Amino acid sequence: MNCIDKHLKEELFALNRYIYEHPELGYAEFKSSEAHVELLKKHGFKTEYGYMGIQTGFRAEYTNGAGPTVAYLSEYDALPEVGHGCGHNIMGTLSTGAAIHLKENLGDTKGRIIVIGTPAEETDGAKVRYAAHGAFDDVDVALISHPFYKNVKSGISFALKALRFTFTGKAAHAAAAPQNGINALDACISTFVNIGLLRQQIVPTARIHGIIKNGGTTANTIPDFACAEFYVRAASKSYLKELARKVCACAKAGAAAAGAGLEITEYETGNDNLLTNHTLQECLCRNLVKVGITNIEEAGEANGSTDVGDVSHVCPTIHPSFNIMAPGEQYSTHTAEFREATLRQPAKEALVKNVCALAMTGKEIMDDPQLLGKIKAEFKTAVEND
Ligand SMILES: [Zn+2]
Ligand SMILES: [Zn+2]
Repeated sequence: MNCIDKHLKEELFALNRYIYEHPELGYAEFKSSEAHVELLKKHGFKTEYGYMGIQTGFRAEYTNGAGPTVAYLSEYDALPEVGHGCGHNIMGTLSTGAAIHLKENLGDTKGRIIVIGTPAEETDGAKVRYAAHGAFDDVDVALISHPFYKNVKSGISFALKALRFTFTGKAAHAAAAPQNGINALDACISTFVNIGLLRQQIVPTARIHGIIKNGGTTANTIPDFACAEFYVRAASKSYLKELARKVCACAKAGAAAAGAGLEITEYETGNDNLLTNHTLQECLCRNLVKVGITNIEEAGEANGSTDVGDVSHVCPTIHPSFNIMAPGEQYSTHTAEFREATLRQPAKEALVKNVCALAMTGKEIMDDPQLLGKIKAEFKTAVEND
């Protein structure tokens, strides 16, 4: 495959800069999503804007006969105050760029290239809804790569459930008539104690962390209302289910002990854990080496959750990271330093190389049914064993 041409290079650098200059929060990425859609349209993609009822989401498609479907996932949401401190300006540009570059180098290769614009990764990620509503059902592989200070293979992330426990009691004067009260805060504190004890009997890869959102207003009134919010995380979907049930039992026991009422809700969209498709990752690694990126590290332990996890349970998926820094620089994400790095020369060079490698990977999958078969077999086993 030819290297990315000068014209496309300039278009991608401009897209990266434009989104950097117009940071928009999740589900308000109007300018950013429009800029992606316009560029894809210009390059011959058929686009659906406002995809699946999400105004700032989109789907772009280019088909060249019957063949595999390769999806590039594009993110473009920013953070409050720090703007593109997570670098989703360059991240989305990479995916859109890879799709365009692949389209322009398809030759006789048959298949379909799609770009899914996925809003709000930082908050209530749209990929969860897209995955649940069939956006990836006809996709053979999904690719996305995050900017970082080193090149890292796709790894694992936590499955997540966001649980809110709302306790209701009965107010009473805490000195004059405490016997008339039902203490909702006691129920809440018992829940924390129960969960603290539960932690000894959980697997080391799981996490439970929470806060008290409401715990009464004055010390001399028995609180009739208390509320706690927890994130429960686990390395697999099946263990998350089991652990969430136990955490809920802790809250039920706390409520029962205090005689309080309890309501359990999920206050944010949860995530599935990321199932990395290693065959697909190795294919990308081979292509990264071809474009001159050789220092690729193995992924470490899970350190968070992502809505890409939900995609990875529907179709073979990878979510590696690519280095955008100059040698010696190590700025972490969600900082102003990281944001500034996305526009500099090393980031531009990394963008070009990664666009090529991702496009080459897409082409290889379309051209090699045996490789795709291996990817799909791995996927099937991973989902069954999760
Ligand atoms: Zn982030
Ligand atoms: Zn990010």
